[in-house]
Formats: sequence, C-alpha cells, structure tokens
Amino acid sequence: MNTATTEPLKNARIAVIGYGSQGRAHALNLHESGLDVVVGARPDGPSWQRAQEDGLTVAEPAEAVKGADLVAFLTPDMVQPAVYAESIEPNIKPGAALLFAHGFNVHFGQIKPRADIDVNLVAPKGPGALVRSEYQRGRGVPCLIAVHQDATGQAEARARAYAAGIGGARAMLIATDFKEETETDLFGEQAVLCGGASELVTKGFETLVEAGYQPEIAYYEVMHELKLIVDLFYEGGLAKMLQFVSETAQYGDYTRGPRVVDEGTKARMKEVLREIQDGSFAREWTAEYAAGLPNYRKFKEADLAHPIEKVGAQLRARMAWLQKDSKAASGTGESLKKAG
Ligand code: NAD
Ligand code: MG
Repeated sequence: MNTATTEPLKNARIAVIGYGSQGRAHALNLHESGLDVVVGARPDGPSWQRAQEDGLTVAEPAEAVKGADLVAFLTPDMVQPAVYAESIEPNIKPGAALLFAHGFNVHFGQIKPRADIDVNLVAPKGPGALVRSEYQRGRGVPCLIAVHQDATGQAEARARAYAAGIGGARAMLIATDFKEETETDLFGEQAVLCGGASELVTKGFETLVEAGYQPEIAYYEVMHELKLIVDLFYEGGLAKMLQFVSETAQYGDYTRGPRVVDEGTKARMKEVLREIQDGSFAREWTAEYAAGLPNYRKFKEADLAHPIEKVGAQLRARMAWLQKDSKAASGTGESLKKAG
C-alpha cells in the first residue's frame, strides 16, 4: 500500500494553484521530491512573493495551468468555481489531471470538470504546516486518495505519485471516493469538531454561570481543560483518556455522559448528515456565500460576543505559555479551515 513513488510524474509539470496552508506545503514537498513545480498565484497577492522567496517558479494561474500535466487546485473551496471557470477550464491541457484536496465542489456539482481531463483527490489528514514538517523529518501525513474521472487511465497512478511527492505515501494512503471524503469531512466539522464541541462547551459554561458559579472557574472547567482530554484522545483514544482520569471522573463519564449526549442527539446528528447527503447544506451554504455572508456574519458576531470569550481572553492573557506558543497554537487550527 505504501509502495507509491513519484515515478508516474517524473516528466510531468505540476501547477499548484493557491499558496496557502496546503498549497505551500505541497509545492515545497513536491519540489524537494525532484518534481517540476510551478506555483499559480495572483501577481498582486502576498503569495506571489512568498513563493518566490521560497525558491519556486511562480506564474499567474492561467499561465501556470497552460503548461501543466497536473493542476493541484488548492485555493479556498468557495472561490474554486470562479477560478475554475476563469483560469483552469480554458487552459488545462487535454489529458492533464485536475487534483483536489477536498471534494466539495466536484461532489456537489459546483464544478463540472471537462470530460477530457482526469479528476482526482489527495487529501492530507492534517494541516499544511504538519504536511511540511513531517516531510522535512523524512516522514509524511496519511492521505485520502480518490478518483472522480479517469480520462487517461492514469488518474489513480498520478494521485498516488502526487501523494508520494508530498510525503503522504510514506505514512499511509486510504482509498476513498469524492462522496465519502466530502460528506464525512462536513459531518465531522458540523456535528462533532466545530459545531458539536463549541456548543457542548458554551452550554456547559452557561449551565455553571447560571447556577451562580464564577465565570473564571467555569471557563477552566469546560473550555481550557478540554485540551487535556482531546490530547489524550489524539494520542491513545478513549483508553488513554480513561487511564489518565480519576475513577470518580470515569464513573461520572459512564453514567452522566450518555444523559447529556443521548439518543436524541444522535437522531439529530443523523438529520445533519441527511442534509449533507441530500445536498441541502451545500445549497444553503453556497447561497449564503453568494449573498455576501449576511447570516454567517451575524452568527460569528454572536459567538465572539459570548461571555465565555470575554473571560477567556482575560484568563489566557495571564497564562504566559499561551502567549509564547500563540503562533504554534494557531498553526494547528488551520486543518479545518476548508469550506469557510
Ligand atoms: P488557504 O486559505 O490556506 O490558502 C488558499 C490560497 O489560495 C491562498 O494562497 C490564497 O491567496 C489563494 N487564493 C485565494 N483566492 C485566489 C484566487 N482567486 N486565485 C488564486 N489564488 C487564490 O486554503 P487551504 O486551507 O490551504 O485549502 C486549500 C484546499 O485544501 C481546500 O480545498 C481545502 O478544503 C483543502 N484542505 C485543507 C486542509 C487544511 O489543513 N487547511 C486540509 C485538507 C484539505
Ligand atoms: Mg457554535
């Protein structure tokens, strides 16, 4: 499974369109893997200069696409339909591959790729900074790989070679399809990671504060300490978490946890999943984006005005280690910066 090499891309020119979290990591890793890379960036944007300073060849997106055998499409998902129509569709060579790192636009029909190109996906399961730093250590971040359209018979081979070039094949490649990658990614961020976790935390905070407890103490209990638990999950799953918390905490977990997050919650998770699967979430979000994000802005304002944010800012300012590490900490936050 990990035998993928860069061989199928040996004589290929790779255009990396977008030089952000993923784009920079992919472009540098591919380049250092000995592949021919050109970065596509806007001449007036900050990425242009950054890519040049990193020692890479840079061109305007349309120019980069023209000569490319593989185009890695790593702009934010919501601008991809416009960039595709303007720079990619008129310029991509017949038989070239268009490679995504998230399937949203193809799966939900926001982009209908030309029939004469391959369409494939390599999605690292980690933020760009980790894709880069693991590569530099001689390792890699596991990647999902998928093929949506195979015009040349080479779509999968080229996806595997690309995954090898960014280091992912050193770790693990998991075969999937655009539907599974897109739907599970959206569900995770909506139900558990962003939506679920933030609601669990704020509702817990409100419960304590409304019962008369100090907001400072509530903040520590329900938000700050979540990191300790999540780190244990990350390193060793439920088993490691249970091993490191007290028997009292375990008993409370076993008996109270299922009352807070119960079968009703699971039924609503299934509802959320259905809205992803039937395309209604994608339609709602695409319309919201096109309308200039009026509701998105309101929701965001309300979150940022929540009392947990005020007390949190005061407390974090007194935790010196958070100030020092604030850059590194924000680096881990980028992995979910996708459809937003
Ligand atoms: P990002 O926001 O970090 O970077 C996007 C880049 O695109 C920036 O360099 C920006 O300047 C450039 N850009 C924006 N508009 C452009 C335009 N019109 N023309 C040309 N360039 C433009 O994005 P990201 O997080 O790297 O995400 C890129 C893709 O990778 C998305 O499909 C995302 O879903 C996917 N993905 C991201 C992660 C992650 O950890 N961030 C993980 C897996 C998959
Ligand atoms: Mg929320």
